[in-house]
Amino acid sequence: TIGMLALDAKGNLSGACTTSGMAYKLHGRVGDSPIIGAGLYIDNEIGGATSTGVGEEVIRNVGSFLVVELMRQGYPPEEACKEAVMRIIKKKTAKSKEIQVGFLALNKKGQYGAYAIQKGFSYAVCNENNQSLLIPGKSY
Ligand code: ASP
Repeated sequence: TIGMLALDAKGNLSGACTTSGMAYKLHGRVGDSPIIGAGLYIDNEIGGATSTGVGEEVIRNVGSFLVVELMRQGYPPEEACKEAVMRIIKKKTAKSKEIQVGFLALNKKGQYGAYAIQKGFSYAVCNENNQSLLIPGKSY
């Protein structure tokens, strides 16, 4: 999945995501990316979130919506992503620690963060000075 979150000069949030799905998927499978609240969710009052990894686990936990709701409760973006990952791990619906799920979040203040089950989940940031940064996301 490629997920993007943006905060414009007027303070408005937006987001988008795209995916080719999972390898060897069943014909007709619908992943998390096209489902609002799962693979992507934006609330212009709070923040936005997007996900990558095993979509079934993200759908079961309404993952991106969860991340935004946690930010509404005051969680910083990285902590919100971490809590959403921990819920997936705790549910143990799949071999949770063996799969990859990662979340990326941005809040209304422009703070951002990410968290994934597995290592190797990095993300890029383009800041207000048009500088691009590659940031290694934290993991479980
Ligand atoms: N989240 C996607 C899906 O389950 C897979 C991906 O990360 O590209 O369809």
